[in-house]
Amino acid sequence: MTIRLRELLLGLRDLRLANAAVIVHSSLKSLGQVEGAAATVVNALVAAFDTVIVPTFTYKTMVIPLVGPENNAITYGSGQDLNRMAEFFTARMPADPLMGIIPETFRRHPRARRSSHPIQSFTGINAGKYLAAQTLTNHLAPLGRLEQADGWVLLMGVNHTVNTSIHYAENMAGRKQFIRWALTPQGVVECPDFPGCSAGFEAIASEMEKFTRKVQIGGALVQAVPLKMLVKAVVGQIRRDPLALLCQQEDCERCGEIRKQGIR
Ligand SMILES: [Zn+2]
Repeated sequence: MTIRLRELLLGLRDLRLANAAVIVHSSLKSLGQVEGAAATVVNALVAAFDTVIVPTFTYKTMVIPLVGPENNAITYGSGQDLNRMAEFFTARMPADPLMGIIPETFRRHPRARRSSHPIQSFTGINAGKYLAAQTLTNHLAPLGRLEQADGWVLLMGVNHTVNTSIHYAENMAGRKQFIRWALTPQGVVECPDFPGCSAGFEAIASEMEKFTRKVQIGGALVQAVPLKMLVKAVVGQIRRDPLALLCQQEDCERCGEIRKQGIR
């Protein structure tokens, strides 16, 4: 079955989020065949919600210096090849393909506006007050504003391992953050509060189950998670267990560093 705008709109309406503001993480492929592809999904999101925000992160701006602070889950001097390929951040830099095609399509929507963080920019429609909150030293501030506004996280065919709002909650809980560096037209810029690894985040799903609204659209399970409840759950888990939501990969540098340090 081919998914059209109508199926997307009806499905999103079934979530009963009214005029909520949403941050969207998505997989176009998970939906199956979509008539008009990513542009149709973007049109559906913009029609269904007052305010839509997506991450349009740009990892190819990142460079690794020769030296830097300790306990930073990075091998200094290891980026010689990567550094040569790094590109200056500009507002027109495409969103990283890791985020799927929908954020990049959203970014190119005529009404879309983008914040200017060289690694972790967000793009939004009708989201000026959220985007304006972002600074170099507080890149997750738009999610704080979204939390205050009773916003929702929308996971379209993806799970919590891509849920950026959990990074915001980790930061709120006092979990160790990292420093990374980005190439900008003003030179190399230090970007503090770079979050840890998200591979273990699906472990929050069971606690969030009772607050999560779900609809099936084509092949995709679409979940709406209330941001306030999510932050409360994540902060609670990390306060009870400083190792909560870390991944199980032995060679994971950032989770390994957090295991060593616990709460900062
Ligand atoms: Zn990890």
